[in-house]
Order: sequence, then C-alpha cells, then structure tokens
Amino acid sequence: MSIIQTVDLTKTYGEKTNQVDALKQVNLSIDEGEFVAIVGSSGSGKSTLLHLIGGLDFPTSGDVLIRGQHLSQMKQTELTIFRRRNLGFVFQSYNLMPILSVYENIVLPLKLDGVTIDEEFVMEVVEKLKISDKLAQMPNQLSGGQQQRVAIARALVARPTIILADEPTGNLDSQNTIEVVGFLKTLAFDFHQTIAVVTHDEKVAQLADRIIKIEDGQIAIGKE
Ligand code: ADP
Ligand code: ADP
Repeated sequence: MSIIQTVDLTKTYGEKTNQVDALKQVNLSIDEGEFVAIVGSSGSGKSTLLHLIGGLDFPTSGDVLIRGQHLSQMKQTELTIFRRRNLGFVFQSYNLMPILSVYENIVLPLKLDGVTIDEEFVMEVVEKLKISDKLAQMPNQLSGGQQQRVAIARALVARPTIILADEPTGNLDSQNTIEVVGFLKTLAFDFHQTIAVVTHDEKVAQLADRIIKIEDGQIAIGKE
C-alpha cells in the first residue's frame, strides 16, 4: 500500500528573470515499509523533493499525499502536528542542541511531545548506533560521525512511520555507513517504517529496496 504519493509535484524557485525549475511534475509512489534511495547529481532536485514530501516547503503546484492525506489541504498547525506524528527527519546538519547532553538531545522531541520515554527502546537504538557510552557527553565532544548517529537516534526513538534522510551517512566512513544503514533497514523492517534517503553513496543505494533517480527535476526512467 502506498504511504507516500506525489501528484504532478512541481517546484520553481526564484523570480521571473532567474527561475529554477527544481522539480517538474513528479509522480511517484512509495509503499509502506519500503526503503527507497533517491539518487541523482548535485542540483537535480533531490533535497527539494525530500523537503516537499516532509511538508517543510510548499510546492509551486501539485501535491503530496501522506497516508492518503493531502498536505496542501492542511492548515499550518495541522501540518505541524501531522509531521510530528508521522515523520522523522535526519538532515546533513545535525541540529543538536549544544547545551544539552547527548541523551537529552535524543529524547528532547519525546519530552516536547509529552510522550512517555521507552528507555529500553532508547537504549536499544543507542547501542545499535554505538553511542551508548556517549550519552552523558555534550555534542561538541563528539566527532562529526558520532553527532550524526545522535541525530539519527533522535529521529528513530519517536518511531515515526516515515523517516526522511538527506545524506545521513555523509560524515561516516564506509564501514560505519554500512552499519548505520544496515541498522536503519533492520529497524524499518521491524517497525514497518518507511524510509526515503537522499544519497550520493553507491553502497547506501545498493542496500535500498528501490532506487529513484532524479535527473534535472524529473524521475529518470529505466535507469534504476
Ligand atoms: P539536490 O538536492 O539534488 O542537490 P536541490 O533540490 O537542492 O538539488 O536543488 C535543485 C535546484 O533548485 C538547484 O538548481 C538548486 O540550486 C535550486 N534550489 C534549491 N533550493 C533553492 C532555493 N531555496 N532557492 C533557489 N534555488 C534553489
Ligand atoms: P544538498 O547538499 O543537500 O544538495 P543544497 O546545497 O542543495 O544541499 O541545499 C542546502 C540548502 O540550501 C537547502 O535548504 C536548499 O533549499 C538551499 N539552497 C540550495 N540551492 C539554493 C539556491 N540556489 N539559492 C538559495 N537556496 C538554495
């Protein structure tokens, strides 16, 4: 069953004289539980696609449906709540709070939502991500790769139905990349989560159930 659907999704940036057609009538469907890699050269529109799917930016025309619900028909507050319940984001920039410990960063979204913290699950996630010995440290005491794992843990502990990740392994070496993506994949399978990951990494793409290639704002057909 399709959990993410885009309908003629189009995004144009800029003014009349310097418009950029970042996405041109993209139609795609991602099934529940699927692990999809979005690939393509720099500037092809991958990040734009991920942002629109996540309701972080608005399309110029067309729409995104998540679990059959049109994002364009939601009011801002509705969208915020919907996003919190359904979507987990992992960005290239980790956006960790510098004054909070690693543990506090990981559980912050749960606290803000007033959700009971499942400590056992949090521990399982941090152990698999190999940051269980870093929980008391501050983000600036960690390497880039470790900070990225913290950001991934933070997205996972809320158990969103969909995880959207933009180059989540950009700061990891190849051994760690395989481990982290392998873990994401297992977890997605166990919890029926859907994952869409933008990646330049061939190894990451190979682990995906499906590769969607974006070329100049459109889905490249027959090149998967
Ligand atoms: P990718 O993630 O594949 O590198 P992007 O989605 O970031 O591609 O960008 C697609 C195109 O849209 C590029 O030409 C980029 O320069 C342009 N673009 C992206 N975001 C903006 C923005 N906020 N304002 C203007 N142009 C943008
Ligand atoms: P990525 O490495 O994910 O492709 P980008 O460089 O495409 O990152 O984009 C980083 C941020 O800058 C995004 O939020 C994107 O919307 C914005 N951006 C990208 N290109 C432009 C642009 N030409 N003008 C303004 N903002 C842009």
